[in-house]
Amino acid sequence: ANPNSPSGTMISPGEISKIASQVDGVLVIDEAYADFADNNCLSLVEQHDNILILRTLSKSYSLAGIRFGFCIAQESIIQGMMKVKDSYNVDRLSITAVVAALDDQKTMRANVEKIKETRQYLAQSLQELGFYVYPSQTNFILAKCMRGVSAHHVYQALKSRKILVRYFNIRRLDDCLRITIGTREEVEILLRNLKELISNNHAKSKVAYCP
Ligand SMILES: *Cc1c(COP(=O)(O)O)cnc(C)c1O
Repeated sequence: ANPNSPSGTMISPGEISKIASQVDGVLVIDEAYADFADNNCLSLVEQHDNILILRTLSKSYSLAGIRFGFCIAQESIIQGMMKVKDSYNVDRLSITAVVAALDDQKTMRANVEKIKETRQYLAQSLQELGFYVYPSQTNFILAKCMRGVSAHHVYQALKSRKILVRYFNIRRLDDCLRITIGTREEVEILLRNLKELISNNHAKSKVAYCP
């Protein structure tokens, strides 16, 4: 996945191109988050007959409910896929919605720009609170908790306040929270609650601190 989830980080098209040259087989690049990034690998399709790019309407186009994605590759790969494709096609209502959405780049770009502005604001605010923030090219931020603060406890405390962020009980991620960029108002509510939980006053914020 490039940009990647849950890190939010991205590998440059130059690096991907090198990998594609070295791979003996098809390199599938999941670009679900590409519209939120500064760059993408679309142009590599022309140079590499073994690159296959996946896109979805579920993220930047806000159309997760129509269940539509597509892929971009050279004709030889697409022909191979057609050989094994099921006879059932995408439904007509989804196609109609997708065509309308793709025709309206302006709405998508406006939403993406709003999300990127809020992403910048959230990243800076989290850093000021003491989190380590991984550079995000997506519509979420991966933030590492400061020493002594349990990400799991913060996650649970936020959840009890009806604020849902993602916690991964996985090695190397269990000190992090993945936070989707909401509206500016939602981000303000999150930050207000995080400040309460992670205030320097240990007595007041037992919830957030490890013993
Ligand atoms: C959301 C997402 C997809 C695609 O989701 P669909 O709703 O099934 O189109 C693919 N890859 C990643 C990494 C995603 O986050």
